Amino acid sequence: MRKFSLILSCFASAAVADDYQIVTSIAPVQGLVAELAAGAQTPELLVPAGADPHEFSLRPSQIRSLQTADLIVLAGNGMEPWWDDVADLVSADATVLILGSGPSVAQYAVPMRQDPGVRDPHMWTDPDVAGIWAERITLMLRAIDPENAGTYDTNLQSTLLALAEVAVTSQAQLAPIKDVQLVFGHDSLQYFELAFGLKFGGALSDAHGTEAGAQTVSSIAGLEGPACLVIDINEADDHGHALIEDAPSVQLDPLGSTLLGQPNFAAALIAHLAEALASCAPS
Ligand SMILES: [Zn+2]
Repeated sequence: MRKFSLILSCFASAAVADDYQIVTSIAPVQGLVAELAAGAQTPELLVPAGADPHEFSLRPSQIRSLQTADLIVLAGNGMEPWWDDVADLVSADATVLILGSGPSVAQYAVPMRQDPGVRDPHMWTDPDVAGIWAERITLMLRAIDPENAGTYDTNLQSTLLALAEVAVTSQAQLAPIKDVQLVFGHDSLQYFELAFGLKFGGALSDAHGTEAGAQTVSSIAGLEGPACLVIDINEADDHGHALIEDAPSVQLDPLGSTLLGQPNFAAALIAHLAEALASCAPS
């Protein structure tokens, strides 16, 4: 009898948990929510791997997902250029969590390099910010699904521990490239550079994906000293190679699309970026 009621209660909690629909925008947000909700909820991802978030349009089925979602989690600061068009369509009962805004992240926010009036949206590449985002997500998960609060708390502790550890190991791994001027195909790692004291050499497209002007291109071509070309995995950037042809180049995945589903996703993303950039070290 005891066994039977235990099984019943398991089914009951699974049924309740399945009633919540969590929709996330981009891979780094989905990966973080998924690791924090592991064992209780599975968040949907709108912008699929391989798609450029700065140039993305929602399909009708994705708009329907947003309309029926209980919790919508976004990076914010223009990372979801489609959001303003659909914000009025979501249910009045839905909770919308914009991770890149609010007082808890304000002290970490930095403006886009090319536009001081606009916040750079790629905040998840700072391990401290990822930790704050994780705490905010956990608060929301606990609020919509209090039955699984224990699971969310356990997951959060694991996430924060992994982020603290990767911050230390990455700092050591990146020490040999502190003087290397990093030239980016897309300006997506400003927060990572600030967190680990790295040197920016230029970017061929800005933090919103707009191509660099002639002045920026010529300043990159004129760089002196060690440099390294850093290209997103989805980019084929012969242009950058031509500009700094003697410099080494690395490819990396700032969105973590290739790391989705890994345990401690947020820390795995920081580790991936550090490992890729470490190979910029002068030989
Ligand atoms: Zn970007």
